[in-house]
Amino acid sequence: RAKSTGSGNQKIFDISMHTAAFQQLKIETDLRRLFDQAEASTGNSSELLVYYQPILALDTLVLQGFEALIRWQHPQKGLIAPIEFVPIAEETGLIVRLDRWVITTAYRQLSLWQQQFPALDSLFMSVNLSGKHFERPGLLTFMDRVLEETALNPSNLKLEITETAVIKNPESAAIILNQLQLRGFQICLDDFGTGYSSLSYLQAFPFQVIKIDRSFVHPLGGILTPKNKTLIVKSIVNLGNTLGLSIVAEGVEQWEQVTHLKSLNCPYGQGYLFSKPMNTDDTTAFLIEAQQAL
Ligand code: C2E
Ligand code: MG
Ligand code: MG
Ligand code: MG
Repeated sequence: RAKSTGSGNQKIFDISMHTAAFQQLKIETDLRRLFDQAEASTGNSSELLVYYQPILALDTLVLQGFEALIRWQHPQKGLIAPIEFVPIAEETGLIVRLDRWVITTAYRQLSLWQQQFPALDSLFMSVNLSGKHFERPGLLTFMDRVLEETALNPSNLKLEITETAVIKNPESAAIILNQLQLRGFQICLDDFGTGYSSLSYLQAFPFQVIKIDRSFVHPLGGILTPKNKTLIVKSIVNLGNTLGLSIVAEGVEQWEQVTHLKSLNCPYGQGYLFSKPMNTDDTTAFLIEAQQAL
């Protein structure tokens, strides 16, 4: 806390706050520099990376697509997870540039993989979209430009949005999401169950996919899962099926969870059990194996 000393306006900062504020500012400045560089060099970044995590059909274990997740390979600090910089990017508005960079990078990569693995041409790419895009113009123009550049079919492209993101700006979110759906993008409700989970939102916005948050998938592990622990997932899956939505279980770490999810009719899953998020080269190797398994 900054405290005013009795005399004058001099402020005394305690060291920890000064350090935290300084760290935040440093991350913000670094990110800004990285996006400036990337935007000046046709998208390449020296430190930012996109990792890809497979999403599978639970009954056949066939690969369906990937979620794109940002990583920061810092020259001193090593690989930094999103939890350390995505919230700062949200606060400062830099998240708009961050998401655009991830979208451009991931879509170009999907386009390359589709050429390299023609048998896997129905693979999708799912990217996370911050609610900040609903507060600023330009998302639709940007998406149209990337579609034109990459010549991807939007039906292979999914956009993940959290409840919190739509609830902050429901009117503009509805307009923009409807426009995206008209273009053929699939809209996913991410981390379902952790936010407001107001059922009216499922109808008011054009969602086609529900991603069940891993906090509900976690209790399905273990050999003897009490029936009451499966009820939330069961209800979400039933709700999704009733509304004609597709369902993905997040954070699948154990085969017991897969068994439960299948018995509850949850069709898709994503988690460390199948694969952690991978860099581009490891994902290409994963695709070579997936193609051989066809
Ligand atoms: P999310 O969109 O819900 O992404 C799923 C997170 O769960 C990822 O964390 C993923 O690595 C992690 N995960 C996947 N399987 C498992 C599992 O079996 N067990 C556990 N414990 N975790 C698992 P990550 O990559 O650290 O990303 C965290 C969050 O940061 C994301 O949550 C998303 O909200 C945000 N984020 C990441 N990349 C982007 C981005 O490009 N744009 C935006 N706006 N947000 C992003
Ligand atoms: Mg997500
Ligand atoms: Mg999620
Ligand atoms: Mg999340």
